[in-house]
Amino acid sequence: MSECTHDCSTCGADCPSKKKTDLREASHALSHIKHVIGVVSGKGGVGKSLVSSMLAVLLSRMGHKVAILDADITGPSIPKAFGLKPGSIYGDENGMIPCKTKTGIETMSLNLLVDSETTPVVWRGSIISGTVKQFWTDVIWDDVDYMIVDCPPGTGDVPLTIFQSLPVDGIVIVSSPQELVSMIVSKAANMANMMNIPVLGLVENMSYFVCPDCGKRHELYGKSHVDEVAKDFGYEVLGKIPFDSRLTALCDRGMIELMDNDYLDTAAEYIVNKLPI
Ligand code: ADP
Repeated sequence: MSECTHDCSTCGADCPSKKKTDLREASHALSHIKHVIGVVSGKGGVGKSLVSSMLAVLLSRMGHKVAILDADITGPSIPKAFGLKPGSIYGDENGMIPCKTKTGIETMSLNLLVDSETTPVVWRGSIISGTVKQFWTDVIWDDVDYMIVDCPPGTGDVPLTIFQSLPVDGIVIVSSPQELVSMIVSKAANMANMMNIPVLGLVENMSYFVCPDCGKRHELYGKSHVDEVAKDFGYEVLGKIPFDSRLTALCDRGMIELMDNDYLDTAAEYIVNKLPI
């Protein structure tokens, strides 16, 4: 446990005198959500949305009811990966109804509310944070075993709002070998610690590339340090995903639900064991 900084709003130390201000928001009265899992990364483009999508698909294939809350408001990639179109959310006097993917994963994303997926979101941070909160409070998440929250990259305003407002059971940290992984993990770990949220483990994306002609494995970004870093922090490595052009093609065509690989099977099993229904 970290040392007290005498500022309860940001400090992770569990002092007896700690002012316990619970900023959590209640979900919609008609929602039933059992577990919330945040997927985070240090920067954009490392494959956080891909990992969120793959985990959702695998948990759904295991027979669980799954939802994705796309909190990456300014860079939403979830609808595209699942082939969901802008303008496909509807609502009634009770609240907004999430869009269902072909295999029944409930999904909410700003790109489902706008007219066109190229409409930019030019909003201040507070509005973006407010929108994420509304995705939790105003959406009727029918019956969900596992909700995956695709968080925006970094440790800014919106991830902070998510960790404070939603009952996040654990986070998965996504990194790539070209990053300073120990720094990324350290920042995410400190943030999770401040909010008393457990880290479920690390996923390394674009770990390696297997040549389709000769089958040789290449570490395109050099040697991976994820195992050492995970050991130092006492975290699990939940999976290593190679650079696989079939994944890019599936995401581009909106067909991620057809993926056929075992890259995150261990991760999905680990999550279900750690957070049983
Ligand atoms: P982030 O959410 O971290 O910004 P994305 O998941 O949107 O990143 O990934 C960025 C792009 O890279 C997407 O086009 C995605 O399909 C592609 N991509 C990510 N990981 C892989 C991978 N392992 N193999 C092939 N393409 C990938």
